[in-house]
Formats: sequence, structure tokens, C-alpha cells
Amino acid sequence: MRYAEIGFNLEIDLTRGSIERVETDPKLTELHLGGLGTNTKILWDRVPPETEPFSPDNLLIFSTGLLVGTPAIGCNRTIVTTYSPQTLLMAYSMMGGFWAPELKYAGYDKVIFRGKSPNLVYLWINNDKVEIRDASHLQGKGAAETAELIRQELKEPNAQVAAIGLAGENRVYMASIEQGRSSASRLGIGAVMGDKGIKAIAVRGTKDVNIARPAEFMELCNDVLKYIQVRSEKPVPGVMPILAGLGSPAEMKLIDEEWHTQNFMWGNARERKRDYWNKEVEEKWKKTQESVRTRLISCYNCPMKCGALISVPGISTYMMKCFSKLTYTMAAFSDLDFGFRIAQRATEYGVDGFSTPQVMAFGLELYEAGILTDQDMAGMPSDNEGRFYWLLDRIVRREGIGDVLANGTYWAAQQIGKGAEAYAHNNIKKHEQLPLKLGMLNPVYFLMYSTGEKINITQIEGNFPQAPFPTMEEREDFVKDWIQVPDEKFKQYLLDWEPRGERSNPYYPTVDMSVDIVDWQEKMHYIDDALGMCAGLSSFPLKPPYHIHNYPAFISSATGIDMDEAGLTQVAKRNRTLLRAVNVRRGLRRADEKPPEDHWKKRFPELEAKLLDEYYKFKGWDNQGIPTKESLQELDLAYVSEDLEQRGIIKNEQS
Ligand code: SF4
Repeated sequence: MRYAEIGFNLEIDLTRGSIERVETDPKLTELHLGGLGTNTKILWDRVPPETEPFSPDNLLIFSTGLLVGTPAIGCNRTIVTTYSPQTLLMAYSMMGGFWAPELKYAGYDKVIFRGKSPNLVYLWINNDKVEIRDASHLQGKGAAETAELIRQELKEPNAQVAAIGLAGENRVYMASIEQGRSSASRLGIGAVMGDKGIKAIAVRGTKDVNIARPAEFMELCNDVLKYIQVRSEKPVPGVMPILAGLGSPAEMKLIDEEWHTQNFMWGNARERKRDYWNKEVEEKWKKTQESVRTRLISCYNCPMKCGALISVPGISTYMMKCFSKLTYTMAAFSDLDFGFRIAQRATEYGVDGFSTPQVMAFGLELYEAGILTDQDMAGMPSDNEGRFYWLLDRIVRREGIGDVLANGTYWAAQQIGKGAEAYAHNNIKKHEQLPLKLGMLNPVYFLMYSTGEKINITQIEGNFPQAPFPTMEEREDFVKDWIQVPDEKFKQYLLDWEPRGERSNPYYPTVDMSVDIVDWQEKMHYIDDALGMCAGLSSFPLKPPYHIHNYPAFISSATGIDMDEAGLTQVAKRNRTLLRAVNVRRGLRRADEKPPEDHWKKRFPELEAKLLDEYYKFKGWDNQGIPTKESLQELDLAYVSEDLEQRGIIKNEQS
């Protein structure tokens, strides 16, 4: 019997219209756990590195995590993996909500798509019965609208539906996959879904998931619930509001946006408004938010309620995720009310709420600079809000200038030329980042921005505070119940970290400490992404309920696999290294690993080079960021080493 996982994947060949239920190898679970780990292994084994993102040979994998569907609190992530049209590297966006647990209850760990359907279709998974169904009547429909129409058509109100909107159908590089109160948005995976001709995947499952040692497992889950309660009564003092508690940034609860509005950049990551927030704005935003927020909602099996149902008069109700309330508002130099209104249309179109507002602001900046002309923007309204709606419509339809902007700021700038490249100034590996421009280099963030394969800082940062506490008293207070640290040395790192002087950024944390901190944070994300755990209860917040000391017991009691901290650390390292190898095989090298030039005003090229050198060394990679033969062998990845040798990547570049 298989525990926690089901042991079967669905394999769908869209070109042939075939559906297979395929048993998986339990040895791979021991090596990679599940979720992102096994997705990476599948992509490595089955998709040659030369494959174009829009090739029928590219795979699109929807995976549950190993503990999804068990009673583990907040364990509900779907990990979607493919090759990104935007970065041309591996993409692995995740969504919360309800879809992944439903897939487990239907009897599958993953759905793997290959090929392309000649017509728009949707997949209907109803326990053992799986059908590819015509979706031509859903063409052009919004993502949430599609989900509702499918539920009605199937007469199955409890089906969970992941769908793309018009953006995905038109292969817009910022296209997301929307589902419930969540979405998998980054790196253009919705465009790959559209390219394959899949409008939606509906799933209904009513089976059970087996647990190896249920009593022990339930006790651990109850401990997590108790800890969440205690922690919610004890917010961390002295940090920005979104970091004080647990959960994904609980933006739907929060009103106080002083930190974001004054520290993040407005427009296309262009301008900082240091004095934006005041009593008047706070009052106005509070009123706006409370008037449209119908109720707070959670993902499957989680008490945190990070999302909300939003009802703006005159437009359909939708579910707002996380940070989107600010991204449109700030990109348009507008107001929260505008952010809530346009986010509804953007959600139906199915676009990434981080990249898309920046792309629209980028288009307007190019117009103001005379790089885009009246002819390019023919028909654009004169008011600011009208312009954003107009651009959004053109982008998702790929009409006129929208066809160029639909490829994101990096590719659009290449295509437009005439100096447009200088305006695409917020990218890492061709992908838009959080709109931040800061003063002093932060060594930990330098490493995370440069080397993270997710290419999204919020999926790398986490358990170590983002900034030093000003006083020793605050630091001592913070470390005294810091049970999550993998090693006591991290407490000292924090105690010694000062806002100014010798022990401050950029030279403190030191290079070695920075590498240690990044490694810890990264490890937790890789574990979460293999288990399907929401980062909001584990790798992202300060002092979370899940950590390296209790995770092994969760895994062992759920799966029956013998797991301890050292073993789990090794799995995380294996998954991280395999993902790096996938990207290295597609050409990723040290030269690609850099934050935007102007991310920090004060840069330190020698220190930055040293940080990268030491990080690579620590990871067992050479100075180009390529895993060495020895480190691959030590991680049971000898087959990767052989492949890289055969391709001349290891032999030529490591000699
Ligand atoms: S913490 Fe928030 S985002 Fe995470 S599972 Fe719970 S409700 Fe969802």
C-alpha cells in the first residue's frame, strides 16, 4: 500500500487524445518526495533541453505535493511545471485553493500533459472516469466564468476547476492559471496551457488518502493548530505588518499599507513615494477595502483566511489574492478603488498580477518618452485609468501594440528597440520582479535574487528577518523562542546584525553567514514545494509552525518513509541541484545570475562576486553555477553528471 501519495499519475496525450493511468515508482518518492521534486525529475527525463516552450514535446505537469490531501494544515498546493516561454528556463508556479486535494481524492498524484490538442478542450476527472471534452463553447470566456460554466454543464457544483482566460488562449507570456481563491501566475505557464489547447481541468474526487501512522500524524497536526493559535496571539513586534503574523501576506485583512506604498516603487518600478501614507489615505483605503470585501476566505484545510471575496458594485464578484490589490493601484499611480476594479477584469483574463501592471506602466512610459507613438497607441483613451483598461484589453487579445507587450517587458523592449531596453529595468532572467529599488546592497537578498530558480523573491526569502532589529533588547527578545533555527549559530547572526556601522549591510551578515542564511531559507522552500505545503505556514513567515525539526516526523508518520533532519536536508539539496541541472542544460550560467542593475543604489562588485563564488562552492557547483560531478554523485544524481558530461558541459567547462 502507498501512504500519503496515491502512486498513480494521469498521462494525457493531447495530440492523440489518449488518457492513461500510470503507476509511479515509490523509489522516486524516497529520493524526491513529490511535488516539485518529482516534477523536476520528470522534466529532466522526458523533455530534451532543446525543446521550445510551445513545442508539443514540452510537458505541462500539474502536481499535488506529497502531503496534500492528508490532514496536514495548509497543505494544499498544486505545483505546475513546464518550460517557460518568458525565461526559456523551467517554470514551477504554485497555487493554493482546493484543486490539488481534490485530485488526490480522485486517485492521482499528478496530471501530465504532452502534445497539443487541435481544438480547445477541457479535462474532466471524476474519480476513475476521465474524459477530454470539447471546450469550443468556452473560447474567450473568463477564467472564473469558465469554472462556473463547467460546473453547471457537469452538474457537479463541487468540482474544482483550474482554468485559463483569454490571456492563456492567446499565449500571453504573463498568462496565469486561475483556480478558486488562488492562481499559478508566474513565468507564463498559462500560455503553455493555452498553447496545448487546454481551457480547463475540472476534478471531483471522493476517495481516501492512506496515512501510515494516523494517530501519530493527527497529534502532529493538532500541535500545528495549537501553535497557530498561540502565534496569532503573539505577533512579532518591530517588523512590517505582513511579517508580524503567519500566512501568505494577509493583504485582505490588512489596511496599513504604509510600508508597501512608501517602499515599493510606483509605475513601472520607477518612482518612490516616501510620504504617500497619511491618516487621510488610511481612512479612505480602509473604507474602500471594507466596502468591497464581502468575506475573508481560506484555502483547503487552513484557518488563516488570507484571501477574500471581493464585490465591487457593477462587476462580478471575484476572489482577490495576496498582493494584487496594490500592484495595479501602484503601477497606475492610482487609488485602491481602481486596484480592486481592474483586478476583477485581470483575474477573468487570467494574468499575473505582478508582471502585468508593470508591463502596462512600461508601455505608457515608452509612450511618454516618445518611443511608442500615437500610431502605436491609436484609440487609447486620455485618462490614466482608461489607458490601463485599454492596454490590458489589447495585451490579452494580442491586438496592435498589445501583441508586443504581451511578451513581457524584456522581449517587448527587444522588439521595440529605440532605447526601450532601458525601460525594462526590473527583470531577472527576463522576468519582472517586485518593483523595489533600494539603497544599500543586502548580501542575503543579493544571493536570493541572483540564484533563485523560481525567479521570484517571495518564493526564496523567509524565516530569517529581512532587516536587523534596531536594539539588542528587541533581538534578544526575538531569539529567545526561535525554535525554528536549524542551528543555534543563526541566533548569533541575528544578535550581531546592526542597522548601521561595522556589523551592517553590505559586509554583515558576512559572506559565509549570508550563504548559510540563504541555504536555510531555500531548503525550507524546496521542502514545502515537494510536500505541497503553503509557504505561508512554513518557509515564508517568521517563526512558522512547520520547520526542519518537526517536518521529518510529519513525513515519516504520513508516508512510512524513515526520515530525519539530515535525510530531509539531503532530499531538499537533491531537488535543488536537479532543478539547477535542468536549467544549466538549457544554458543558464553565472552571467545570468544578477539582480536588476539599479535594484540597489550602492553596489559592491567584488563583494558580489565573492558572494556568488562562495554560494556556488557551498552548493557543490563550479564557478559558473554548474553542479560538479562529485556533488551530483553524492546526491544520487550520477545520471545527471553523465548527461552533462556527454553534452560537454561538465567536461569542457569544469576542466
Ligand atoms: S496560509 Fe493563507 S495562502 Fe496559505 S493555505 Fe492558509 S489560507 Fe491559503
